Parts: sequence; C-alpha cells; structure tokens
Amino acid sequence: MSKSFSSESGSADLGPAVGRDPADRDSSVRILDLLVIGAGPTGLAVGADAQRAGLSVLLLDRGTLCDAIRQYPTGMQFFTTRDLLEIAGVPLAIPEAKPTRAQALAYYREVARQYRIPIATREEVSSVEAIDDGFLVRSFGRSGERERRARAVVLATGYFGRPHHLGVPGEDLPWVSARYHEAYGHFDDEVVVVGGGNSALEAALELYRWGAKVTLVHRGDKAKPSIKYWLGPDFVNRVEEGAIKARYQSTVEAFEEPGWVRGSGVGGPWRQRCDAVYILIGYRPELELAAALGVTIDPHTSVPAVDPETCESNIPGFYVAGTLQAGNDTGRIFIENSRDHGARIVQHYLASGDASEAVP
Ligand SMILES: Cc1cc2nc3c(=O)[nH]c(=O)nc-3n(C[C@H](O)[C@H](O)[C@H](O)COP(=O)(O)OP(=O)(O)OC[C@H]3O[C@@H](n4cnc5c(N)ncnc54)[C@H](O)[C@@H]3O)c2cc1C
Repeated sequence: MSKSFSSESGSADLGPAVGRDPADRDSSVRILDLLVIGAGPTGLAVGADAQRAGLSVLLLDRGTLCDAIRQYPTGMQFFTTRDLLEIAGVPLAIPEAKPTRAQALAYYREVARQYRIPIATREEVSSVEAIDDGFLVRSFGRSGERERRARAVVLATGYFGRPHHLGVPGEDLPWVSARYHEAYGHFDDEVVVVGGGNSALEAALELYRWGAKVTLVHRGDKAKPSIKYWLGPDFVNRVEEGAIKARYQSTVEAFEEPGWVRGSGVGGPWRQRCDAVYILIGYRPELELAAALGVTIDPHTSVPAVDPETCESNIPGFYVAGTLQAGNDTGRIFIENSRDHGARIVQHYLASGDASEAVP
C-alpha cells in the first residue's frame, strides 16, 4: 500500500520574521533613535538591545538578513563554538559544538524574530549626513530612494562585499570568481585556487574531495600561519602526496581565454590550463560611508577612530561596530569578540540622554 505524505501545514504561525519600520508603523516617529546600517550579527545585536531598551530602531541592509553569512560556502562550519556566537541572550540550541552556516542563519533569524527587530531588506544606504538633531540617511531600495532621520547611526557593514582583487587582465572572465560556494559542478575540472588562507585551503580541499584537479597558487612559501589547526596538516599532506598541486612563491599575471592562467614564480614563468578559478585572497572593510562623513581612518591600517568602550567614532552619535573596527586586518575582530558591541552602543546612547520617549 502506498503511503501518502501530507504537505507541511501552512497554518504554522511563526509570526512575522521581523518588525516594521517604526516610521511606517507610527507617524509620530519622525526621527529614529538608532538607525543601523547592516543586518549581520553585529547589526542584529544592536537591534535586539535597542528593542529591549524601548528605543525606536531600524536596520537597513542592501541584501537580506545576515547577507554575508548567506553567501559563505554552502557547507561551511564555523570554527567558533555555538555559545560564543550567541547574541542578545538567545541560546543557540543545537547538538553540535560548532554550527554550520545553515544553523547560524536559522539562529540569527530567530533572534530577529524573537525581538521583532525592524529590518528593511534590499535597501542600500548611499549616504549619511550630519544635520542639526542627528543624521540624515539616504538609501535606495525596491520602493526607490528614501531619506530617514536618526539621532544616532551605527555602521555595521562588515567586509564581505569588498573581496580583494588581483588587478590583472581577465579577472572579469565568467570562469574567474572571487566567491566560492561549493565543489559540486567541478567534478573532473581543472580548478585553480588563488590564496593561502583558510578560505583558499578549505575550498582547495573540498574541490579535491569532489574530484577536481586542484592547483593552489600562493605568493607565500607556505600557507598562512593563521590557518585553522585542523586544516593545515590535511592540506600539507595532500600536497606532499601529489593529490593537490601547490605553486608557492608564485603570482598570477593574467587569465586568458579559452581557459588559461598565466603567472610567474621561483621557477620562472608558467601557464596552466583551467576550467575555473577562485581568487580567495581576503577582503577590505566597507568604510566608505564613514569616510565620507568625516570619521578618521588610519591610512595604513584602515582602522577607524572609535572609542573601544562605547564604539562611538570621532563623530558624536556615529558608531562603528563589529568586524569593521579591525580595518584591513579583517580576521582580528569577528562575531565571537564583538558580540557585546550592541550592548555597549545602546548603553552609551541611553547615557547620552538623546533617547526619545520609549516606543511601545
Ligand atoms: C568563511 C568565513 C568563516 C567565518 N567563521 C567565523 C567563525 O567561526 N567565528 C566568528 O566569530 N567569525 C567567523 N567569520 C567572521 C564573521 O562572519 C564576521 O566577523 C561577521 O559576519 C561580521 O559581522 P558584521 O555584522 O560586523 O558584518 P557582516 O556579517 O559582514 O554584515 C554586514 C551587512 O552589512 C550589509 N551592508 C553592507 N553595506 C551596506 C550598505 N551600504 N547599505 C546597507 N547594507 C549594507 C551587508 O549586506 C551585510 O548583510 C567567518 C567569516 C568567513 C568569511
């Protein structure tokens, strides 16, 4: 007898995923307490604390909720244990010690839902201007251009939208990418991975295990010292046994149709056939909005001037939070060691006496 499967009930009410823009909900809210740019873990932590304090808050994201993590490699697992990724007191209740990308996304969505954090997705902020009573924030989204006013602004735009490029000819060819998602689709392909950090080694190993013929090209003489402790030996052993080819102390000079990488290294110039290339050489912080507003940014390190206690920048009422605070050294500040930024910012904002009457 055939067994029938009923489809999942459409009546399960999880409630709205996020809260609404306070200005759309209540016309008396003409000026927000806090406007947060970026709805990653940092933006969410600010939003949750602001909601808890009864402030009017809105998060704007040019993508969707946790849009950077959404674009990480599909099968990626965090190196941080679940407890250290928690924000706003919401438990990350999974049986595994370290969440996968999918589990982390489900968790941060739950934080947004529990606190009913107002979030406008697919709305990119184009400018922040200081005005008499705070800031004027311009954004562009599905309903066109919008302007909002806020007493304080939090910049939490991370770095994932700005991958480093090599700056060589052919980098824009369709088989060359700065984003690696998954190995499926590369069976029996010749794949070149450029880079020597965690992202490059992880991609190289996954591609090799899915049957691709992988070459890693790295300008250093070995993988970076910051490599995850379980990744380094695995990679070194695969290179030693000849399963993965490594071109150390080598640089790429061009990508050429119909599928060539040209470079040079200690052994002289080289040219290699390939079906796909992944350039995984890190990121730079998205600090353009801060720079345009007048936040002081170190020209060498790109570290913005912020008070570490409060996250406030040299522009009063403008906060810079999360991984952005690390400047070019993007790996120095991550979720684990910045998840208290939300509480610090909200406490400082409340103490500054700017807060409006609490919004119910
Ligand atoms: C592969 C990988 C693995 C990682 N593993 C770990 C780990 O195990 N543990 C850990 O603690 N950290 C880890 N990290 C780092 C961690 O993911 C980041 O530190 C963290 O996501 C930073 O959070 P954030 O909220 O500051 O920025 P992001 O998560 O980058 O969020 C920034 C948001 O801002 C939005 N945005 C940008 N510009 C604009 C704009 N102009 N207008 C509107 N929205 C905008 C983006 O769409 C994005 O949603 C990992 C990173 C990578 C790449």
